[in-house]
Amino acid sequence: MTSEHVRGRLSEVRRAFHRHPEPAWCEFRTTCRLVEELRGIGVDELHVGRDAIAEDERMAVPDADTLDRWYERAREAGVDPGVLERLVGGYTGAVAVLERGEGPTIGLRVDIDGLHIEEAAGESHAPAAEGFRSETDGTMHACGHDAHVTVGLGVLEAVMASEFAGTFKVFFQPAEEESGGGKAMAESEHMDDVDCLFAVHVGLGHPTGEVVAGIVEPLAMAHITATFHGEAAHAGNAPQEGRNTIQAASRAVSDLYGIPRHADGATRMNVGRIEGGSASNVVADETTVWGEVRGETTALMRYMQDAFTRRVEAAAAAHGCTVDVDVVSESPRADSDPDLAALVADAARGRADVDTVHESAPFGASEDATFLMRRVQEADGLATYAVVGTDHPGDHHTPAFDVDERTLDTGVGVLSDAVLAAAEDHR
Ligand SMILES: [Zn+2]
Repeated sequence: MTSEHVRGRLSEVRRAFHRHPEPAWCEFRTTCRLVEELRGIGVDELHVGRDAIAEDERMAVPDADTLDRWYERAREAGVDPGVLERLVGGYTGAVAVLERGEGPTIGLRVDIDGLHIEEAAGESHAPAAEGFRSETDGTMHACGHDAHVTVGLGVLEAVMASEFAGTFKVFFQPAEEESGGGKAMAESEHMDDVDCLFAVHVGLGHPTGEVVAGIVEPLAMAHITATFHGEAAHAGNAPQEGRNTIQAASRAVSDLYGIPRHADGATRMNVGRIEGGSASNVVADETTVWGEVRGETTALMRYMQDAFTRRVEAAAAAHGCTVDVDVVSESPRADSDPDLAALVADAARGRADVDTVHESAPFGASEDATFLMRRVQEADGLATYAVVGTDHPGDHHTPAFDVDERTLDTGVGVLSDAVLAAAEDHR
């Protein structure tokens, strides 16, 4: 066990995670692999699976077949069966704890999941050219969460090797991409005593050498599905007997885009997927619409959510159908605390590999780290969401996304210095 177990091979560790991306709640192999690294580092407490989260608070959990498929894949890959067994049913993720005597409890939250995207295979895409492209078709680390896991491990190791006094916890959170894991992790008992929480993301349009100390104004969001139920009928013989769910869904979609703007601030609405019906000569008896709403504040998101529900219900009623509206997952708004962000900014300014430091910047997207941030802030603690810039050739969530690996060392350095400063400040 050396104090450079992870920090001496950050790229290698990141690439190993990059090769095997797993979607929300299916991070079986990822969790086993990160536990292996944590054992190499030698932490004082390690909580995995059901012990890492509030098990009843998971959102957007995939169906049992999907979970089984990914579980099997991890088993076949030869991961530690003892760890894997504890993740059965999609209870992925881990919380690692360092106990270093008297002092505050500082937390760091990183996310670990990948996306349903087919990774670029051309020579201009570094992971393909250098042999660490995703080995799982249709799944990709296209948002940098492979880098986040690596940074989380590196910071843990750096804090361990330092004079840090207090308790340090790293939250390896599953299912961020579906806004499904934040609440479950926020509600776990491991968050009870956290005085200061850091969360981190790479890139997001900020180039290598740039650091944002505290993101503000993330959009609160909710993923919603609406399933319309009607009555099938012969489209030629007896169309009047049918209750057409495609008609209801179509009306709902156009009405949804007509939800008025709100004077209090920005809102968003999107329908990204529709599935229903069986053939052109049959009145469709079931159609599902997948949508999402966002708002600058949690209240604005609720306004959109209510308006969404009213419109799909009205559209269903107009066509004699019924509709089940299901909020699959959601995340609130939370802003970084300037006092804690200032510690990240100070840590960043002290480094040769950082040339631009922003105290804060608007997010413009959504994140379920906000659940953890709010949990800490509501208990009078401090939280900040930092961005460590990275040159990324493709946008986030596209096949050509990649990170500049120099960012790994920058992220570990900035965050571990900020963690030490927070512990010092809180004494
Ligand atoms: Zn992300």
